Amino acid sequence: MKITDLKCAIMGGTPIIRITTDAGIDGYGQAEFYKSYLKPHVLYYREMIIGLDPTNVEAVMQRIRRMGAFKPWGAAVSAIEIALWDIAGKAANLPVYKLLGGKVRDKVRTYITTNRYPMPLQTPAEYVENVQKIQGWSEGFTLFKQPISFHSPMAITTPNYSYGERRNWGVHSNRGVLTRQGLNHTVACVQAMREALPDTIELALDCGPGFLPQDALRFAQACEPFQLRWLEDMLSGDYAPFVTADQYRDVKTRTSTPLHTGEQMYLRQNFMELIEKRAVDVIGPDPLDVGGIAELKWITEYADLHGIAMAPHGTGNGVFGLAALVQVCATLPDNFIAFEYPKANLPWWYDIVDGLPDQIVKDSYVDVWDRPGLGVTFRVNAAKKYLEAEDKAFFE
Ligand SMILES: [Mg+2]
Repeated sequence: MKITDLKCAIMGGTPIIRITTDAGIDGYGQAEFYKSYLKPHVLYYREMIIGLDPTNVEAVMQRIRRMGAFKPWGAAVSAIEIALWDIAGKAANLPVYKLLGGKVRDKVRTYITTNRYPMPLQTPAEYVENVQKIQGWSEGFTLFKQPISFHSPMAITTPNYSYGERRNWGVHSNRGVLTRQGLNHTVACVQAMREALPDTIELALDCGPGFLPQDALRFAQACEPFQLRWLEDMLSGDYAPFVTADQYRDVKTRTSTPLHTGEQMYLRQNFMELIEKRAVDVIGPDPLDVGGIAELKWITEYADLHGIAMAPHGTGNGVFGLAALVQVCATLPDNFIAFEYPKANLPWWYDIVDGLPDQIVKDSYVDVWDRPGLGVTFRVNAAKKYLEAEDKAFFE
């Protein structure tokens, strides 16, 4: 079998990847729905993979993997990897999890990121009201991750939150030394949420990046009574093109609150220092940024050897990203906690694909499906109407 084309269309803001073959089998992947600018980056790899056998996934990846980088520049490579697995599974008439070593669980646990309702004042009462609304959702999520501090508007809207200037540069651009007031306000919001939630719901926080280690330590220690699942990305993280393993380790060894990072990281090699130094308690690569699902599995196995847990990122990954997460997470060792559930950015996504159950998440779990490949495919006729004019030939 040979690859005949690599295409990319932007649907609902989302880059969708389609790889076609001379056997008539195609495979799909996608990048996060806020990365529409990646289309030319995806197509950059086209000439490098045409003519290769897509079922030799690793051989194809060797051609392109070296041409990627930390978030967002690993997303195109990652989406291609997932489309290759989709083809390999369809060609073998097996679900992708079988090709990754087989499943060790029949249902996969998910968690939900909870910044879903406006919180203009960023007060404890707003934080409580927000998580209580999510408690009412039909998916029955049992692990919530709340953005807070530098990973939320709090750092901008709360007077005297930290030293330094407030930046409105988009994605997580504030950093600096927290004031006493800023630290206490953040802790008050955590305490209020934790007291409002039952013991059956665990709470994690997405915090940064932006803390200095001394503030990260003070915050992590202040959170110890709340028994949080993890604190994410306090030092480096989302959109930081580097890792600060030694600084994470300084904090980690002095608090019982678990630390988490890794969503922006690309490739196994970049996880080595973090894992070998046991610098955090949980890592959370995103299959759509790290280099794909086989890459994510390798990293998870290596983390498990070092006593580090795994909770993959995925909030913007859409329906094909969900399929990829379900397939790989079914195969991960026992250090797996839960993956971040990608809710589609627009409701019509669920009307243009086949393969998803009517109720995808039940009691926080997704049942692993057994259809070939990723197990999710387009209803082409229904999907066509969401193509932009320049992408009209995407399904041809
Ligand atoms: Mg995060």
